[in-house]
Amino acid sequence: MNAGISLPPKDNTRELISMKNKITKPYIMMRIFIAVFCFCAFFRCKKPTNKVISPDVIIEQKVDSLLAIMTLDEKIGQMSQVRHFADIIDKDIAEKFIGSVIHTQGPDPGKDAAGWQARFKTLQELALSTRLGIPLLFAVDAVHGQNTFQGATVFPHNIGLGATRNTTLVQEIAAITAIESQATGFNWVFSPCIAIPYNEKWGRVYEAFSESTELTNELTKALIIGLQGNLSDPKTVMATAKHFVGDGATDFGVEGGNTTLNIEQLEERLLPPYRVAVNEGVGSVMASFNTISGQPMHAHKNLITNLLKKEMNFKGIVVTDWKGYSKFGQNKIINAGVDIVMAVDGDLDFFQQGVKRGIKNDSVSIARINDAVKRILRQKYRLGLFENPYPDSTLISKIGSESHRNKAKQAVRESLVLLKNEKNILPIDKTLKKIVVVGEHANSSGLQSGGWTMSWQGSDENYKGATTILEGIKNTAKGDVVYDLNATGNHFNADLAIVVVGETPYAEVFGDIGHVSNTRTLTLTKEHQDYINTYTEKGVKTIVVLISGRTLVVTDQINKSDAFVAAWLPGSEGNGIAEVLFGDYDFKGKLPHSWPKSLEDFKGKYGPNFWDKSITPLFEYGYGLNYKLKN
Ligand code: BGC
Repeated sequence: MNAGISLPPKDNTRELISMKNKITKPYIMMRIFIAVFCFCAFFRCKKPTNKVISPDVIIEQKVDSLLAIMTLDEKIGQMSQVRHFADIIDKDIAEKFIGSVIHTQGPDPGKDAAGWQARFKTLQELALSTRLGIPLLFAVDAVHGQNTFQGATVFPHNIGLGATRNTTLVQEIAAITAIESQATGFNWVFSPCIAIPYNEKWGRVYEAFSESTELTNELTKALIIGLQGNLSDPKTVMATAKHFVGDGATDFGVEGGNTTLNIEQLEERLLPPYRVAVNEGVGSVMASFNTISGQPMHAHKNLITNLLKKEMNFKGIVVTDWKGYSKFGQNKIINAGVDIVMAVDGDLDFFQQGVKRGIKNDSVSIARINDAVKRILRQKYRLGLFENPYPDSTLISKIGSESHRNKAKQAVRESLVLLKNEKNILPIDKTLKKIVVVGEHANSSGLQSGGWTMSWQGSDENYKGATTILEGIKNTAKGDVVYDLNATGNHFNADLAIVVVGETPYAEVFGDIGHVSNTRTLTLTKEHQDYINTYTEKGVKTIVVLISGRTLVVTDQINKSDAFVAAWLPGSEGNGIAEVLFGDYDFKGKLPHSWPKSLEDFKGKYGPNFWDKSITPLFEYGYGLNYKLKN
């Protein structure tokens, strides 16, 4: 039911303009109030019992009332997402009725959290100054903590959380991510990635929890509950399940490639986490760059509208990925069921005018636009943005707080997977006279954190508030700890070498192996292999700590070392690693992926994984030693 305000006909521009001029904000608020009042009164009259009207029903009523008085420009504006720089000048927020803003790599919104909040407040004020005063959503890729902010708590990437198997911990981490995101001005995060990676050559393996659908289901649920909680609480944010669907299962692990799984396989292996996400009320789902058997996912009406929205009953927003409108068929993606367009890098006017043309020539229906806008408004009401559009300044002190970092440290400890421990060289005796620590990864919080850390591609530089692996070792060992950056220091008299090797940071297609910029390999670089050889060949007992966003072919290095630890991408609390190596805590992590034994394992479309029993992995999914289960 609405307040009796009927939608002007699609082509009646004059009517729209005069309506736009006549309708003022108090007038609109009054009409919404009347609508809700009538609605409530109706229910009271009908059932004089003390039946409580569900907040969802009230939200639907508000959405319908607001939608009914929106012009086409206002609707298209709601569907438009821009960066807070480059894509717009500030006044566009009001003039183009922008519905959401994304922060991603580029100029920071401010010099500190208060500055970020202030910047977003300014933009929010512009949105609220429009005749309907519909608040903006602010989105960020907080994929392992609020990883775009110097000083935030940065958690292990999802692959490490997959190794923890700890749903309580993952929920707590997500709740902290929500707080630190809100503290820097955001109410929407583009997380979690709930892909099921099939091939380690894919550059985004680490963004996903595991090759196991079951484990992904459990952690998806925990993460969404943690992020969204009760959505109207100012400490929570709207989550995004991404990338729908098939992102991690492309042939040969190509980012944005083609996924050739059939519908039954899709249903059995990739869709269950989306069902979980939808059941948990996830606010948004992001369409994926890949194609499914040749058809771009962004334009896949059958999967987006028929399956996700209708069959699965998803009531939230489907958002495109980067420049999805111009990349994947323009209005085809709107017709397929996309609701918000990430209109970046020159796409804003192209989208706004293109979709308007589509309405004019009847290739896009107004019903489709209304569906999109309804979904957007619904989430804005669920988030409580109409009552509470601004960030909460009291949350700023929580960013990178001790309790948040302790939780991240726990995650680091629990994510470590012990693959080998010959003659129980671990735990390390704290009183050893001399320990040599080798490798640049030991001394760089940037390198240990991977992509999506402070910048899109990550970096090799230290960032604010983080501790390194070396710092942790130095703080724990009682004897001498020397640092031998590239194994040229000749510390062969050491009682023990801890060699930290692995991948340099990457994100998205830049992490793919054997595709586009083909600079990455499934094996360690020659240099890193030599770090290990240098010490093992001299007979120094050697523990290898591997920093990587995926399992790698390191069979030789495992054979040569005395102990081998997969540490994934631990994030800001590098000192958590020492706590386990020195035995203050036991190992808990279990492999979230099958571990390959040789490059031969990657000759086909996929690597060794849960589904393909034809390849025998070096270590099975779920493998992981600990001190109690000595080997
Ligand atoms: C990525 C998404 C991300 C978006 C916004 C895209 O390139 O594929 O995962 O959310 O950029 O930064």
